Amino acid sequence: MENERVLIGDYLGTIEEFVPGKGTFAEDGKIYAAIIGAAELDKANHTAEIKGKNIPELEVGQIIFGEIVNIRRNNITVIAKKIRGYDSEIDEKTSLYVSNIADKYVEKAENLFGIGDIVEGEIIRIHGGMVSLSTKGDYGVVLAFCRRCRHRLEKTDKYKDKLVCSNCAHEEERKIAKDYGKVENA
Ligand SMILES: [Zn+2]
Repeated sequence: MENERVLIGDYLGTIEEFVPGKGTFAEDGKIYAAIIGAAELDKANHTAEIKGKNIPELEVGQIIFGEIVNIRRNNITVIAKKIRGYDSEIDEKTSLYVSNIADKYVEKAENLFGIGDIVEGEIIRIHGGMVSLSTKGDYGVVLAFCRRCRHRLEKTDKYKDKLVCSNCAHEEERKIAKDYGKVENA
């Protein structure tokens, strides 16, 4: 495998095969991608690394706005767009990982989030180049789009955990942030 594009959490190999390098993390003897990028696995030199973008200025406790690009069973991948309180946009290719999705047990993350939705989350962990967000509590989706017609979904007084499409009236469940609709420049 050379220069294969990987997503966060993709399996790369074992620690017997490779030394986990930049953009990777090891867990239980296995090495995974910590960022989105190109995997460079060098069997001769036993090195595994991901060439991608890290954001050096990120810190635990910061609030991030990002767009959902991938949803797996119990985690989602987000491209960071903005740090709350900072004026400038951050690099579009910065990938983050949301593992603490909701306060309740989530059977399928895709039931509570949609591709293209904008989420607001807090950085809870930065480890081995992997930035983890939490969307628990007041955080979650701040802007969501209808799965049927891609129109913007709106909050409704009728439900706490559902949004309604302003165009086709489709109702969809989301992990809704307290700040739904209030996206800073996003
Ligand atoms: Zn719709």
